[in-house]
Formats: sequence, structure tokens, C-alpha cells
Amino acid sequence: MSTSPATPLSPVFQAARRRTFAIISHPDAGKTTLTENLLLAGGAIRAAGAVRARGQTRRTQSDWMKIERERGISVSASVMTFDHDGLMFNLLDTPGHEDFSEDTYRTLTAADAAIMVLDAAKGIEPQTLKLFEVCRLRDIPIITFINKMDREAQDPFELLDEVSSKLALDPAPLFWPAGSGGRFKGMLDLRKQTFIPYAKKSSNDDEGHPDPVAINSNAISRFLDPEEQAEVEEGAMLVSEAAKPFDVQSFLEGHMTPVFFGSALRHFGVAELLAGIGAYAPAPHPAKAVRNGAETHVAPGDGEVSGFVFKVQANMDPNHRDRIAFLRLTSGRFTRGMKLKAQNTGKSMSVNAPVMFFASDRELAEDAYAGDVIGIPNHGVLRVGDSLSESGLLRFAGLPNFAPEILRRVRVKDPLKAKHLKKALEGLAEEGVTQLFRPMLGSSDFIVGAVGQLQFEVMADRLGGEYALDVMFEPSPYAEARWISGARTDVEDFQDKHKTAMATDIDDQPVFLGKSSWEIGYVAERFPKVRFDRTRERG
Ligand code: GDP
Repeated sequence: MSTSPATPLSPVFQAARRRTFAIISHPDAGKTTLTENLLLAGGAIRAAGAVRARGQTRRTQSDWMKIERERGISVSASVMTFDHDGLMFNLLDTPGHEDFSEDTYRTLTAADAAIMVLDAAKGIEPQTLKLFEVCRLRDIPIITFINKMDREAQDPFELLDEVSSKLALDPAPLFWPAGSGGRFKGMLDLRKQTFIPYAKKSSNDDEGHPDPVAINSNAISRFLDPEEQAEVEEGAMLVSEAAKPFDVQSFLEGHMTPVFFGSALRHFGVAELLAGIGAYAPAPHPAKAVRNGAETHVAPGDGEVSGFVFKVQANMDPNHRDRIAFLRLTSGRFTRGMKLKAQNTGKSMSVNAPVMFFASDRELAEDAYAGDVIGIPNHGVLRVGDSLSESGLLRFAGLPNFAPEILRRVRVKDPLKAKHLKKALEGLAEEGVTQLFRPMLGSSDFIVGAVGQLQFEVMADRLGGEYALDVMFEPSPYAEARWISGARTDVEDFQDKHKTAMATDIDDQPVFLGKSSWEIGYVAERFPKVRFDRTRERG
């Protein structure tokens, strides 16, 4: 594929100004608050709170999101795009609840960088660690934001130590805080040698904090008493000696994380973080793919438009019973009306109504480039993991499906609706809400699997609300599922001997259902030529 010259409409130029990132955190560390404040700092919304307000109107319109409201968590990952400082930021919203880790994992496959939010009082929490591991698996560089400095915080050196020991990442602070909680006064910009004062005020007050002043100017005494000044300067000196200097290459390779401090709630440190994302987070890079059986790399500037579906969401707009497939573009200049072809099914579709999601609205996308995420309304043609391109020949590395940790048998109360149930379950499995397994032997049962209990609640709610199906979840005799693979004869031999425990997933791949992990270990030992996988890449 030829690369076009860097004119304003060229894919090379446009991809270079994209920053596509996600925020990862443990629940309550401040992801939602930071999201709002990044949008505010980026000029995408005028007053903090707009995101939530919009969420609420959306929730009242959409039945299944009742759950979201009742549980007070966000179960839907979405994307928000904003243009700021000559750059296009695409912020992927990952759900914070651990039951939805599958969704989060898939969203992270579409991100080029991640912001890790830490609560300054709590440091690294279990969910932070889990999400971090996914980022590391996918080589996603991480920017650290230490939030809630307006509250009593841990010693910043301890926080950095934790990053280094628990995550094996070199922390490179770009700022250094002066105090925390009631004594929080602001932070030093270690590179510019300026002090950024923090003005305590209410969270609704959008007026800025005082302007930065030079460290060695007299003006600093307006914000710090001599003792505080000595303390922050000493801390800054110690940290410059102890920490490695920030090195962009090391960050991009996943060895180092630049560290920012702030208070999302008090709008402090967020503009600096946004500038940091702009400066250091990578623009989209070439993606690994397969074309006609051969491995290749698809560069953002390639002429051919391509991308992959990382999420499918149903009924976002209750007036249209549509599904939206979120396509992360990997190359080319997409224009509205373009025909794209799915690699796995060979189906072609004209993308006439692609949407992009801005903080306050969704709009038709006239054009889009690598790094952008467009929503493609469709009626169930597109699935998570699908690769789309003009030629239909490109396949991107698949998205993982994880072995479910809970398996349930699902039945519909009205037996006449069994067929209906099958369709509904398939739809939800295609969206990735839950997984669906169909026993290979005669039974008309459906086994559904999930990583967390909440997925079943979402499922029951949606089966009732969207499909008018009253269902029962019953315990299933199985506790574990493994995808099996290997030479055809070995797999067939294994299947023959375990007919009653075999099932197929939504893509007709064979799955062994075990009653315990002990049983899985036992059969795996007896069938060494068969592979038992906990994950399967789709697409
Ligand atoms: P999420 O679960 O990670 O999305 O966290 P939220 O953004 O919903 O924040 C959790 C709680 O922490 C809320 O009550 C926020 O108001 C509060 N919070 C978030 N950021 C800050 C901060 O910088 N300072 C203080 N004091 N509270 C914050």
C-alpha cells in the first residue's frame, strides 16, 4: 500500500494527531471525575457534571441501563472524542466494575495508551493491578495520575515505591506535590522549575487556580511559607536523585511511567495531565495483521481503510432498535458511505451512518482516521472481533474470550419461546455480554458463562426488557470451560470420549465443560496432545 504525502487530509498527518487512550483504575479512585475534568480541560464540555447528566438522561431512556443506575456503576464502555490543542483525543471509557473485566480487556485492545488513576491515600489497589497486567500484556504505555491530593495522602515517595515494586515500572515524576489534604498547596513542575499553586475552593467553582510562578521568585512566598517551600524543594531534590529521568522511549516500551499529581474533583493538575497525554502518549502505530495467510503490518498511513470491532452495544438509542458496533480504525481515510468488507464472513456493507461520539452529542462522521472509533449501526451483522477493510482481506489479531468463572443453565419459563430464547442468547453472546455454550449432545439446554455475577443480572434484565423473555438461571453441573484444540484426530478422539461434556461456543468452536478445575487437570493429563485453553481469540 502506498503512503500518501502529509497533507492535512492525509491519513499520515491525521493519524499523527490522534491520541486514543483509556483510563484504568480501581473503583472509586476517581475515573469518572477525571473523565469529566479531562473533557472540561479539553474544552469538550463547559461545566463539570455534563457527562453524568447526559448519562442520566440516557439511562432514563434505556431500560436495561436501569441496572447501571441501581448499582451505581457504569457497565457500558463508550468513547468520547474531542479536539484540543491541534490534537484529536479519543477517550475510551472502560467500566470499572470487576465483573466487567472482559469488556474492559476488549476496550483496552483499542487503546494506544492508558492513564492509571491512583487514589493518593490508597495507592495500588487490586483492580489497578489486574488492569495494569492487561496493559502490560498488550504493551500499552501507561501514564500515572495520583489523584485526590486534596485529601490526606500517603507519602509520595511511598506511592512511587509501590509503582516500582508492585508493577515493576520505573516511575518518573514530572511534578512534585507540596503537602496533601488540608496542607495541599500545589506542585512543582520539575522540568519548568515553576510552582503551580493550588487554591482550595468548591468543586463547582470552575475558575482556574492561580498562575504558576518561578521556583526562585519572591512570588512563591505568596503560596508557601518558608518551611513548606524548604520541604517541597527538598522532596523535589531527593526525587530527582532517586528516580530515573523521564525517557519517552522507555515509556513507550512499557518500562517507565511519567507520574502526575492532582485533584480531579478540584480541577487541579488535569490540564497538565492532558498536555502530558498530548505530548507523550503515542499516536496510532502499525497494527499486526494477516493478509491472505501471511503476517503483515498495517500502518496508519496506508491507503486502504481498515479496522476492527472491539465492542458491540445494543439499544443505545431506544428509538432505533439497532446495535452499534464500535470500530477502531487502524489505517486509511474513512469517508462516510464507504464500503467495508468483513474478513471472516466476506460480507460487504456500505457505512452510510457512521457515528462519532462527542461529549455532548453523537454526530455523523464524514471522515475518520487511524485511532478514531466510529460507531456503525447494524442489525447484528457485525460482531466483536470482526476485522473490516476495503479489500476484506485483512484480519487483525483477535480479541480474547476468557474462560467463564460462572456457568449457568438458562431456561425460558414459556417453552413455546425456546426458539426466541436461542436468538436472544446468541445476540447477547455476539455482543459479548455473556458467553453461550451449546451442549453437543441432543439436549436443548443452553449454558451461559460469565466472568462475574453481575453479567447475569444485566442479561436477565435485557432478556426481559428487550426480548420480553422471562428466564430462569439454574445451577449447571459444570464449573469450568476450556476451549480445546489440537490435531483433528486427537480432538475428535477426545470429543468421542467426552460427548456428554462437550459443547460449542458461539463460533462453533469445541469447548470442554468440566465439573471442577481438578477434572480439567485430570483429563488434560490423560490427553496431552489436546490443548485446553482458558482464552480464545475471536475473529
Ligand atoms: P470512579 O469509581 O473511579 O469512577 O470514581 P468517581 O470519579 O466516581 O469518584 C469516586 C468518589 O471520589 C466520588 O465521591 C468523587 O467525588 C470522589 N473524588 C474523585 N476525585 C476526587 C479528588 O480529586 N478529590 C476528592 N476529595 N474526591 C474525589
